[in-house]
Amino acid sequence: MRRVYLDYAATTPVRREVFEAMVPYLTEKFGNPSSVHWFGREIRKDVDEARERVAEALNASPQEIYFTSGGTESDNMAILGTAAALRNKGRHVITSAVEHHAALDACLSLEKQGYRVTVLPVDKYGMVDPADLEAAIAEDTILVSIMHANNEVGTIQPIKELAAIARKHGVLFHTDAVQTIGAIPVDVRELGVDLLSLSGHKIYGPKGIGALYVRKGVRLSNIAFGGAQERKLRPGTENVAGIMGLATAVELAVAEQQETYEKLVVLRDKLIDGLTAVPDVKLNGHPQQRLPGNVNVSVERVEGESLILSLDMAGIAVSSGSACTSGSLEPSHVLMAMGLDHQSAHGSLRLTLGKGTSAEDIDHVLSVFPGVVQRLRDMSPLRKSGEE
Ligand SMILES: *Cc1c(COP(=O)(O)O)cnc(C)c1O
Repeated sequence: MRRVYLDYAATTPVRREVFEAMVPYLTEKFGNPSSVHWFGREIRKDVDEARERVAEALNASPQEIYFTSGGTESDNMAILGTAAALRNKGRHVITSAVEHHAALDACLSLEKQGYRVTVLPVDKYGMVDPADLEAAIAEDTILVSIMHANNEVGTIQPIKELAAIARKHGVLFHTDAVQTIGAIPVDVRELGVDLLSLSGHKIYGPKGIGALYVRKGVRLSNIAFGGAQERKLRPGTENVAGIMGLATAVELAVAEQQETYEKLVVLRDKLIDGLTAVPDVKLNGHPQQRLPGNVNVSVERVEGESLILSLDMAGIAVSSGSACTSGSLEPSHVLMAMGLDHQSAHGSLRLTLGKGTSAEDIDHVLSVFPGVVQRLRDMSPLRKSGEE
């Protein structure tokens, strides 16, 4: 059966160059970078060089890069680490209603510790209004955490503007850039952020590795204990092979960003046009300020889950909302925050494109989709009014 993978926002395959960069560190280059002997020292040099490569790709300096186990840990470190370090300065944190659960739940855990958390609303496109951020900043605000682009609906936030507002008030700004590395330009100085999260497996790197950028001078408490690695901020023996893979993945993603963008936008728009040509299929997320590989639609009078299963039987892999929320019956918090009704949120479908996506893949999906929707609608109790 022909199989089409359109779930690149959930994960990507490890690209050949990344795999090859990792292999020596899983075999002969096995030393512990903390060891004082030659086997360790050699690896320490390579880890430091990987740090330089990640830093350079983001326009940061090497001392500002900390390796972590992925996007989730980076978000947790940024939010919980700054909150703990600044708890005597203030206990108010601001985030948005469309964050990934890694950031949202970290903020909610602060709430249980007695911090105040303001969750900014978004408009119907999933966009945060900078005026809302300005109004929410108070005397005791210590941190703002707003993602660069949303993983479900692809909306790109005005991070430069939002970060400038935080800075004007002396408040730290963190952004989750897991979905934007390699998709749109990510330059920490240009964005003006203090902290930035990224993940390996969303950019053709391995799973279980990520990084956190921490601007020089920003103080963070460690949230894990046990060793002096990563300048004591992130203890534990380094995932050396993962670090080498991440450096290569970040470097290539950034070098190829423009080319990737131009290729994906064409395929994305073709897919959007084709899907929304089916009656009562509407685009979710911003029509322009949108990730090049993201398509999210609501299909009226159809259950999203049934649609995913039917498409899967036809060899097409897509998701509803995010991989983390599928399996639960709760509609996506992102779509609900954008003001969709329950039915539209439940009938949502996310199709995310990547390196392996071809024009033929899009044609194939568009040839299968209308028939699948029609069949499900024919069976559905959710009839159009007047159709009974
Ligand atoms: C995937 C994702 C994460 C989590 O990253 P992991 O490396 O899987 O822990 C965080 N934020 C966003 C926006 C994501 O898409």
